[in-house]
Amino acid sequence: MKWQGRERSSNIEDRRSRGSTPGGSLGGGSGGGFPPIGGRRIPTGRAAGGGMGIVAVIVIFGVLWMLGLNPIDVLTNGGAGTSSPSTSQWALPASNADEDQLAAFIGVVVKDTEDLWGEVFRQNDMTYVPPKVVLFTGQTQSGCGVADASSGPFYCPNDQKVYIDLSFYEQLRRQFGAPGDFAQAYVIAHEIGHHVQNLTGVLPEFNRQRSSMSQDQQNAYSVRVELQADCYAGVWANFAKQQNYLEQGDVEEAINAANAIGDDTLTRGQVTERNYTHGSSEQRMRWLKRGMTTGDVGQCDTFAGAI
Ligand SMILES: [Zn+2]
Repeated sequence: MKWQGRERSSNIEDRRSRGSTPGGSLGGGSGGGFPPIGGRRIPTGRAAGGGMGIVAVIVIFGVLWMLGLNPIDVLTNGGAGTSSPSTSQWALPASNADEDQLAAFIGVVVKDTEDLWGEVFRQNDMTYVPPKVVLFTGQTQSGCGVADASSGPFYCPNDQKVYIDLSFYEQLRRQFGAPGDFAQAYVIAHEIGHHVQNLTGVLPEFNRQRSSMSQDQQNAYSVRVELQADCYAGVWANFAKQQNYLEQGDVEEAINAANAIGDDTLTRGQVTERNYTHGSSEQRMRWLKRGMTTGDVGQCDTFAGAI
């Protein structure tokens, strides 16, 4: 992805222990000079209906919701608010230079999402208020509890912030076999997608309904929420392509990442009701591609019909 030298978001909250720039400032989200984005309605996501065969959730995730700590995206096996202090995250520190590069890259991607969603919301007579994106190493406090390296990137609706532990990208590359800057960008765009869902009412509705749902129903609903965030990440990728930011292999990097973090792949096919919350690799790739090829948020209604 072409990102060097491009403008960064002012909504990055850099909490790295060795970081230099504390906090971001309000604002951002404007943009201009890019082609119009398919101007259809943003799906607002109603009940997914129950009784679907696909089921499950990481137990801790459900516990967090019950506690009122509701991070969305416990991508791996941890979760904010659940961790005990660990020393493992200190074992392989990236160099300052590497981290700074990564932080700069994230800033550029977040700025792109602000341009995209600012325009889409305008087209829908809504106002996009961008989230803060917190970069950290080690541990940090979030509105959804303590986050650390085991949390994975997540969105916390309570404080409307995205949390990214910079070591995650090494994990994405090594453990999940998904290298490449566009794989990283996809993960960021997916989390920003959850913020969009918070603004459009999808996440609040999910919250309202889940208390009266069975675990199976909640998990099935969660999959629809996650696949929509993947589709939104695809819409962002389409936007980046229109801006001529893509390089050879970028699209494949993102699709490879979606494949790698599908529930069935993550669990090596051992899909149980406890671990099926984000969708299969096939589903994740398909919805990501749908957003990518159409660039149309109207194509991201994962709440209607089969997924
Ligand atoms: Zn997610």
